[in-house]
Amino acid sequence: MDGKALAAKVRERVAQEARALGRLGLATILVGDDPASEVYIRHKHAAAEEVGIEAVDIRLPADSTTVDVLERVRRLNEDDAVDGILVQTPLPDQLDEALVQAAVEPAKDVDGLHPLNVGLLHLGRPALVPATPLGVMALLAEYGVGIEGARAVVIGRSQIVGRPLAQLLTHANATVTVCHSRTVELARNTLDADVLVAAVGLPGMVTADLVKQGAAVVDVGITRTDAGLVGDVDPTAAEVAAFLTPVPGGVGPMTIACLLENTVLAARNRRGELAVSGN
Ligand code: NDP
Repeated sequence: MDGKALAAKVRERVAQEARALGRLGLATILVGDDPASEVYIRHKHAAAEEVGIEAVDIRLPADSTTVDVLERVRRLNEDDAVDGILVQTPLPDQLDEALVQAAVEPAKDVDGLHPLNVGLLHLGRPALVPATPLGVMALLAEYGVGIEGARAVVIGRSQIVGRPLAQLLTHANATVTVCHSRTVELARNTLDADVLVAAVGLPGMVTADLVKQGAAVVDVGITRTDAGLVGDVDPTAAEVAAFLTPVPGGVGPMTIACLLENTVLAARNRRGELAVSGN
């Protein structure tokens, strides 16, 4: 499943919508100078500018306090030129991540991490939903992978990937199992999966013997190694799976494209247009 190709299509659609909407703004806050986070921010900004969304790059020192970050978030909440706000994680240890996420105006919460959006997704109501799970669902749809009635297994239960993805799959009428670090006999679950998603961060952990013949396998994992970016799915899984996403070029580009789509969605909602939600 070619995420790069689908992401290009999504970005084209976003560019058209952005032109129709006029001025759009996406603000990111990066606290500290984590090199991986800097790369992500750079990619997000480049993609935003390419589709005509103005990127606002807020940098705060690594020793910022929670109050410093909350104050910056408050100013962005009040800035009418800003449609979407994203606080890049991980935050330095001294910061209260939950408090920061809850401070973002829910209507501008393009990462879908505010408790209101988390709750709305849980209820199956229109919400801003994290971009990575949206990207996974879009890829499965693009390749005609049947979700209704399918058995789906998500390995990983983070707030940003595993949990919201399990919700989206449930809303799409899959029967969903969520696995994590305390799951015993992982294979007992995964071998039953028509759709298997790995969102862990352990290179090559999903080997062929964990995959059901003919399954659709989505590799969310990204680990930086000397040999480049590596996913959670071992290449041997390709012998068994009917569909597989590559790393790089799978979920990664879809995450950025769906973040831009969320920014347009937030802008349309803020302008009082009836917009379609992600879920
Ligand atoms: P987290 O570290 O927040 O979550 C990892 C999850 O994997 C946890 O739920 C953890 O379980 C589970 N886990 C850890 N070890 C095992 C194991 N041995 N067996 C089964 N489950 C295990 O990571 P994220 O969700 O933020 O990210 C996951 C991966 O996806 C990372 O590689 C990240 O870089 C990548 N990523 C990629 C994106 C993209 O655009 N492609 C976007 C976001 C993330 P427990 O809850 O018990 O600790």
